[in-house]
Amino acid sequence: MAHSTLDRIFETVVDRNRGETEFHQSVWEVFESIGPVLDRHPEYADRKVIERLCEPERQIIFRVPWEDDNGEVHINRGFRVEFNSALGPYKGGLRFHPSVYQGIVKFLGFEQVFKNAVTGLPIGGGKGGSDFDPKGRSEREIMRFCQSFMTELHRHLGEYTDVPAGDTGVGGREIGFLFGQYKRITNRYESGVLTGKSLAYGGAQVRTEATGYGCAYFVEEMLAVRGDSLEGKNVVVSGSGNVAIYAIEKTHQLGGTVVACSDSNGYVHDENGIDVELVKQLKEVERVRLAEYAERRPGAKYVSGRSVWEVPCQVAMPSATQNELDGDAAAMLVRGGCVAIGEGANMPTTPEGVRVFQEAGVAFGPGKAANAGGVATSALEMQQNASRDSWGFDFTESRLREIMQDVHARCHRTAEEYGMPGNYVAGANIHGFVHVADAMLGQGL
Ligand code: GLU
Repeated sequence: MAHSTLDRIFETVVDRNRGETEFHQSVWEVFESIGPVLDRHPEYADRKVIERLCEPERQIIFRVPWEDDNGEVHINRGFRVEFNSALGPYKGGLRFHPSVYQGIVKFLGFEQVFKNAVTGLPIGGGKGGSDFDPKGRSEREIMRFCQSFMTELHRHLGEYTDVPAGDTGVGGREIGFLFGQYKRITNRYESGVLTGKSLAYGGAQVRTEATGYGCAYFVEEMLAVRGDSLEGKNVVVSGSGNVAIYAIEKTHQLGGTVVACSDSNGYVHDENGIDVELVKQLKEVERVRLAEYAERRPGAKYVSGRSVWEVPCQVAMPSATQNELDGDAAAMLVRGGCVAIGEGANMPTTPEGVRVFQEAGVAFGPGKAANAGGVATSALEMQQNASRDSWGFDFTESRLREIMQDVHARCHRTAEEYGMPGNYVAGANIHGFVHVADAMLGQGL
């Protein structure tokens, strides 16, 4: 890092948050970018803004008891980390996945603070979730779990306080169950307390599509700077969840061809271009394994137990989970002719992977910028809820596109200002940091 103040603060962060390796990684990644800012603005260090930014404003851990369909009782752990409210109410998703623990929620919450700042919209950062595993659970079990989760969480939420949305394992169905329970307990129809709601009750057009669409738009912007576009490119998207599905859909609309996508067991390779309607049918309607794709689509094959990054492509959009793309995978992609990466997931590329891409001159769009479309459209949902309005699809999509163009421009400009042209990691981290730090300084200790 080569900056003594940041080195010292980093040691304290590791010491205070022992064993939370993903959180350490996300802090380290920001610290690697902001050294030049501290040289120009010593007031941030003098007022201990960085130490304050690394300590969440509030962390809630709670018990979530629920009963399965056989009457057996289960106990899970629930989390909400309210990280930073300098720019607006805490905003960020809920993740239900067995890997969830405090360190994951903190890494996600920390990233969210910067990502939300880069959107330019008035939202603070937070994240939550549970180690509950929705896989194989019936709809009634999911509903009971969501109700129990909200029975505790509701007291911490509010449209001016903390506004969760979905993330891995939490989609429109779960948001519906959570919203129903919030309303039941509080007797308030507070539309703006959750985003990602169904269109039937206060949801926003394009929210479902937003993260994936936004990622493809961001890649299109990075390519445009280089006089290029997605038109005619072969693209690989990892994952087959909400982000991946809509990254595939928008890539196809922009003229690219997605030839592979994946799940936790392997990947589908389809030279003719992934049939996104079939993926939607399998993953969103039938909720079955991705391997089914190859059974139903002639010419496609499912390769189990191997990494999707072995499929050569010109553009990759890692859209599954954290640290899914390491240095070796990055080197393989570079050798295969990859020229641009858009991170649809949060921190999917390891630090070594990022280094490989940057040294090879690949246009690298970090999640904090490339996947900001989801939370940005959540902020649009909040705007519509606050004004009791509802906008059309085309208008909302054009707003999303403008926001992604602005996010790209901010990151690009900031990287240039600090003498690192084309470095979107530095651009996003520095822009997000300065925006939040200035607000914190202005609001006093
Ligand atoms: N979970 C998404 C993210 O990582 C969306 C959060 C939101 O809409 O509040 O940004």
